[in-house]
Amino acid sequence: MECPKCGRKCFEGVIKSEQAGRLFSEGAMLTWTPEYEKKSVIKKDKLNLKKTGSGYYCQFCEKVYATFELSEIQSIFQG
Ligand SMILES: [Zn+2]
Repeated sequence: MECPKCGRKCFEGVIKSEQAGRLFSEGAMLTWTPEYEKKSVIKKDKLNLKKTGSGYYCQFCEKVYATFELSEIQSIFQG
C-alpha cells in the first residue's frame, strides 16, 4: 500500500492487541464509528471489528495505517 499522505511505499505488517497493553484489555471491543455519529450518545451505525488487522507503516511520515475486518457480518448505510 502507498502512504495516503506522501505516496511512498509502506511496509506491510500486522496489528494485534498485546496482552500486556492496556489499550485492548480483555473483553474490550474495537469499533468503527462514522464521523456523523462521533459525538452521539447512541451510535446506531457503529461497526464491531476484529482485534487483529493489517497495518501499513510509512517510515517517512512515521504513521501506521490499519485495516480491520468486521468481527461479524454487519451492514450499515442501507437506507
Ligand atoms: Zn508517508
